[in-house]
Amino acid sequence: MTEKRTVLNPTAADIEKLEKDQMAAATKIKTIEPTKEIVDEKIVDIISHEFKDDDIFSPKKVTHKLVAGKHNYPELNFITSKGEISIRRMTATEEGYFYEALEKGLNMTLFFATINRMIDSCVRTNIDTYKLSLIEKTPLFLHILALTYDNKHTFTFKCDECESEYEIKLDLVKDFVSKIMPKSFKLPVKIPLKGYDFPLTLYLNYPLIQDEAIYLSTETNWLGKIRTIIEKIEGVLPDGTVVDESHYDSIINNLDKVDTKKVKDTLNDIVTNYGLNLSDITIKSMCKNKSCTLWNKDQVKALPLDEILLNVFTKDED
Ligand SMILES: [Zn+2]
Repeated sequence: MTEKRTVLNPTAADIEKLEKDQMAAATKIKTIEPTKEIVDEKIVDIISHEFKDDDIFSPKKVTHKLVAGKHNYPELNFITSKGEISIRRMTATEEGYFYEALEKGLNMTLFFATINRMIDSCVRTNIDTYKLSLIEKTPLFLHILALTYDNKHTFTFKCDECESEYEIKLDLVKDFVSKIMPKSFKLPVKIPLKGYDFPLTLYLNYPLIQDEAIYLSTETNWLGKIRTIIEKIEGVLPDGTVVDESHYDSIINNLDKVDTKKVKDTLNDIVTNYGLNLSDITIKSMCKNKSCTLWNKDQVKALPLDEILLNVFTKDED
């Protein structure tokens, strides 16, 4: 524990900075997110080995079950038939990534990109981690945290009603169980568009980890976000022209309310039904104040990833 603490103990000023800085410096992320070209190079040199290179001193690999199964990653060869990959705990290398980010001035965008970098390093199956769905990120990272540090951590929650504060111990494995997609759930999701006088079908993906910066950035407009997650649009225009990529921007830009809602609902359904939703953590019989109307009742709380991470990293020894 002592060793971990010295490596990973941001100062109070660091934490305050992390909490205060918002998405403003979105451009910074470009310096550490891999470009498409790099991603492609990675694919080229990983075709023959099931695992990335490790030596005998490397931490033991353990199995991690992916949310989207194997069937949603036809290009990622080394995911097992059960939809599993191998991961390991963090080492000083990955902890160093976090420090590197702190030195640059950790804003939310950089924070999320740094987590992606840590995950990529801890995934030992020879896959391009950035090509995994963003829905995998939270379960993967919590699993890595649990392997690296203790499973159990104490978080502070306020009662919704009387605002009493409670220290609640949560288990990063047992209390955060992710929901796996059934084989019948295939990405991309097919959405027939009704707003046009001619038949168009939109195939919508969930964002990949590599799309995260664009997808979450406040500087990306609706068109930009949707554009990153469209697999394809099929259809034929009234003059017989087959729809191709040159039509996509106009089609997305002119979506009517009903079709727009369908796209948003599809994305929402995925977040709600699969993976781990950190805005939806149930705390059992939370409030112990007998005069409170929520006494002994379950309460649903949000526990953002940055809060979990800072809690784990700054944990006092006791
Ligand atoms: Zn209460």
